[in-house]
Amino acid sequence: MTDLPAISSRHHNRISALHEEVTAWRRDLHAHPETGFEEVRTAGIVAGKLKEFGVDEVLTGIATTGVVGIVRGREPGPTIGLRADMDALPMQETGDVSYKSTVPGKMHACGHDGHTAMLLGTAKLLAESRDFAGSVALIFQPAEEGGGGGRVMVEEGLFEKADCKSVWGLHNWPDLPLGTFCPLAGPAMAGIDYFDIAVRGQGTHAGMPHDGVDTVLAAAHLVTAIQSVPGRNVSPHETATIGVSMFKGSDAYVVMPDEAVIGGSVRYFNPAVRDLAEARIRSLAEGIAKGFGCEAVIDYRKNYPPAINPPAEADVAAGIAGSVVGTANVIREHEPCMAGEDFSFMLNERPGNYIWMGTAAPDHRSGKLHYPDYNFNDASIPLGIGYWMALVDELLPAA
Ligand SMILES: [Zn+2]
Ligand SMILES: [Zn+2]
Repeated sequence: MTDLPAISSRHHNRISALHEEVTAWRRDLHAHPETGFEEVRTAGIVAGKLKEFGVDEVLTGIATTGVVGIVRGREPGPTIGLRADMDALPMQETGDVSYKSTVPGKMHACGHDGHTAMLLGTAKLLAESRDFAGSVALIFQPAEEGGGGGRVMVEEGLFEKADCKSVWGLHNWPDLPLGTFCPLAGPAMAGIDYFDIAVRGQGTHAGMPHDGVDTVLAAAHLVTAIQSVPGRNVSPHETATIGVSMFKGSDAYVVMPDEAVIGGSVRYFNPAVRDLAEARIRSLAEGIAKGFGCEAVIDYRKNYPPAINPPAEADVAAGIAGSVVGTANVIREHEPCMAGEDFSFMLNERPGNYIWMGTAAPDHRSGKLHYPDYNFNDASIPLGIGYWMALVDELLPAA
């Protein structure tokens, strides 16, 4: 095991003693990845351990596989929510760790195995000590990777079941050094929409293109034209990432298809930019398709709103992270990330913060998030638990 990073926490000894056990849980989850809304084994382990730890209430089946554990402190007080995500990604692991995925085509490439294990470790310590005033809702959500499990949990009454005064998220961040935290104020993770556009025309023999209406050529022009939206329509002072990642024509060299389908994403922080992008993409699709004698069928879907950290709670998170790793290791200024995060649905309901926890270390080949050789850095486990415990100490202090 890697040497424990220096953490300053009154719970240091208890966290250190738990490191190996939480690592074993993490590696077991890693070996048995489950994708969105199918986290049946994972949710079963989470609920089982919460009960074993003596957590007061264990609510299951929220958003199909979501679990919420509520642990009450020795004094009354408000409730705060700590959130972990449980799902894996539909991709093949190429790393060679001894506990690599046993499920073909699925892997924990975003470290949600680590998030789940760290929150379970926190639950164990909180249930043992009860040394706080109020309640902690331990939120284990399904389907962060595109399925919107966070949205579904909110829709299914998460905050009625656990009336959290504030809600806090944490994500491992392999681009930042181990021993750092980054609780950005303001935009942290982008909003994301998806679009599919079917360009319909008339299929034909590839040797007789004049007998048909070429949908592939029209769709190709549309792919190029869509790049004019961030380049020519969105203000240079705003942020937008718009791209086509899918393109489907026919399955044969010699057949021109009736329909070509493209799909991609729009990423943004400002909702007005999103509205502009949607309107321009619709207009380009209709206009270009018409110009080529085709018709465009557009399916534009609003998916995740941006995760915007309110400044006051970012200051709170920064102070807490500073108490764990030292103020010099808290990164206050950083570019936001254009990936999405459905913790935004919770942040839209309650104040809180989504913090990045650095995990890069010379002795850990962690890869990058969503890469096939990615592996969560177990050396960061005490830091994650240390942050959660310090958060509870700060927000729910017992007399
Ligand atoms: Zn991810
Ligand atoms: Zn993730």
